[in-house]
Parts: sequence; structure tokens; C-alpha cells
Amino acid sequence: MINTLIVGFGIAGFNYAEQLRRQKKTFVVIAPKTHSASHLAAGIINPTVLKRFNPVWKSDEFINNALDHYQSIQDLIKTKVIYTIPILRVLYNTREQNEWVVASSKTPLEKYLNNLLVPRDKFQGISAPFNFGEVLKSARVDNKTLLSAYVKKIIPNQFIEGKIDYAQLKINTDGIEYKGIQAKKIVFCEGYQSVNNPFFNYLPLIGSKGEMLIIKCDRLQENVIFKGPIFLSPIGEKKFWVGATFNREDKTTSITEKGKKWLINKLDKFLNLPYQILDHMAQIRATVIDRRPLLGVHPRYSNLFILNGMGTRGVLMSPLLSHWLFEYIENQLKLPVEADIKRFENNYFRNL
Ligand SMILES: Cc1cc2nc3c(=O)[nH]c(=O)nc-3n(C[C@H](O)[C@H](O)[C@H](O)COP(=O)(O)OP(=O)(O)OC[C@H]3O[C@@H](n4cnc5c(N)ncnc54)[C@H](O)[C@@H]3O)c2cc1C
Repeated sequence: MINTLIVGFGIAGFNYAEQLRRQKKTFVVIAPKTHSASHLAAGIINPTVLKRFNPVWKSDEFINNALDHYQSIQDLIKTKVIYTIPILRVLYNTREQNEWVVASSKTPLEKYLNNLLVPRDKFQGISAPFNFGEVLKSARVDNKTLLSAYVKKIIPNQFIEGKIDYAQLKINTDGIEYKGIQAKKIVFCEGYQSVNNPFFNYLPLIGSKGEMLIIKCDRLQENVIFKGPIFLSPIGEKKFWVGATFNREDKTTSITEKGKKWLINKLDKFLNLPYQILDHMAQIRATVIDRRPLLGVHPRYSNLFILNGMGTRGVLMSPLLSHWLFEYIENQLKLPVEADIKRFENNYFRNL
């Protein structure tokens, strides 16, 4: 019997697998190899909320953990996946300039926001009428490369490609069984598709569709991520990730003309250089009603667990969330109450 069956291999499933590998626990992953939100995400690690100049929840803990973690993964897989790169937020008026300077003098933002504004004429081709604010502790992770290199180099014999059929899952008192695999526990890391999981579909996952573009722009600099009305992030070879839309109504992963037009319109508001659109894709973020992650054990079955609900911050948060969940499952440490799915237990019992 193995220790854990992991279902799903986006950034959450990957990070949980890595916890188990480090602690020498046996595991198998079942997941499709591509097409997750993680594969399409910009992979930006940003400890701040750039709309309102706030820190994210537990920013210090998440950022310190994430930067070290992806660096060590890069060493493990011997493949470049983390790029330390500043984010430049376009400031649109003097009020925003003042708010930036005030925010950058407060704890904990003083560590993340440079209080000296970056002059607008430093970057050709970008409209920044009131200069830029610079995020200092930020990075980009190439999720796609990371996920495929990890499967290929680290867990080639522990990865089963495909989707789990819930009807075939047997839950026993001492573990679970799935098509001949016996495991002490199962950890579901299914992102938004968890709404189809009969064990965890009582949780309030809202889902927020995001469409994005890949463009080529030969004359744009590749050493910063720009944040204007949307993100414009270099991904190499003069290609840039552009996005994204937020749509809570449409729960499909189809691309739309409306989404594309919206993205082009926002991009043209701050990029003044010729570009070519190479790709257009969409996925759904696993957003939660109270904007906190979903970690913990099923209210009825003690060997069923979930790691989900990372919204727009999966790359930043999933290394530490995976660690918390591992410690909870294997060493009976407590989860932070804000992230523990116990907060929604009433939904489960109400629906019985
Ligand atoms: C356009 C866009 C841009 C984004 N940009 C960023 C960003 O810059 N930075 C950031 O931190 N976050 C970003 N995000 C959010 C980020 O993508 C998510 O927080 C993160 O990817 C969630 O990871 P996950 O592993 O929980 O889910 P997912 O990446 O969705 O992975 C879930 C996995 O589970 C699999 N699965 C589902 N059901 C089953 C089943 N029954 N059996 C087997 N496997 C199953 C899926 O196929 C998939 O492999 C962005 C999201 C979008 C849509």
C-alpha cells in the first residue's frame, strides 16, 4: 500500500508531490499532463495587491517560502524555471503616486515596494503618464516547463496520465482503493474541476475564467513585467504573456472574441509598439467565496483530503499551503483556521 494517491497535477498537485518526495513518503499521481490553469498562468509571484497597494494575506510567509522553494526545485530538475524580475506598476495620476509612496513606507510593504518611483522615460513603448511604482520582491515561474520536467525527471514511474473516475474509488477504513492502487489516503488537487468531485462539491468554489494572449513584440524590453490595465510579462524570445480577463459567469475554457477584444483594448492603452498575436487561451481559476484556500479533511471520510482554492495566487501560495497540509495529515499539526475547510462544514451536513 502506498502512502498517498494525488489527483491532479497543476501547481498544487506538484507541490504536494514534492512534500511527499522530500519526506520519503510513497505516492502516485493521476492527472492529465496538460491544460490546467497552472499550465496557462503567467506564473507571477507577487506579494502585493497592485490594485489597492496592499500586501496579500500572510505575504511574508508565502513569499519567503516560495522563492526559496522554486530555486531548490530548479536545482533538483536542473532546468531553469524561476526568473527573478521586478514588476513595474503604471501609475495613472498624482493620487496613485501619493498612495504608492505612503504604502511603501508601511510594514510589511516597505520590503516589497520601492518608494523611489521609476521615471516613465526609462522604458520605450510603454505609456506611464505618472511614472512607475516598482515591486522589488517578485518573480516569474515557468509552470509549464516545471511541471513537465518534474514528471519526466523526478516521478516518471509515479505518474498515471488521465482523469480519475470517482465511481471506481473505494473508501475503506484503513485507506482507499482505485483501479488496483491501494493508498492510505487520497489528496485531491483538482483546481476548479473540483466542482465535479462528489466528495468535495459542497465547498463554495466560484471559479473565475481568465483569457490571455501570447504576443511577439520585437522592440519591447524583456527585463521587467509591466502592470498597466493588465499584465505584460516577458516569456523569452521576444514573446510576452498578456492578461487576463476575469469572468465569473462563463465556466467554459473556450476562447471568445469578446475576451480577445477586451485584452487588445487594454493592451493598446499602454503598449505603443507594433506586436503580433501568436496565441489566445482560457482557463478557470479556482476562486473561493471568502478568497481563502481550501485545505483539509473530508467531514466524513478521514482519508480524503483537499488542496485547492488558490484563486489568482497559486504559484505564490501552493508551496507553503502544501507544507501546511502535509504537516496536518502526517503530523497532526493544526491548519490556519482561515484556510481549513472546516469553516464550510455546515454546507456539507446541510446537503445530506
Ligand atoms: C489566465 C490566468 C492567469 C493566471 N496567472 C497567475 C499568475 O501569474 N500567478 C499565480 O500565482 N497564479 C495565476 N493564476 C492562477 C493559477 O493558475 C492558479 O492559482 C493555480 O494554477 C491553481 O493550481 P491548481 O493546481 O490548484 O489547479 P489547476 O492548475 O487547475 O490544476 C488542476 C489539475 O487537476 C486535474 N484534474 C481535475 N480533475 C481531475 C480528475 N478528476 N482526475 C485527475 N485529474 C484531475 C486537472 O486536469 C489539472 O491537472 C492564473 C490563472 C489564470 C486562469
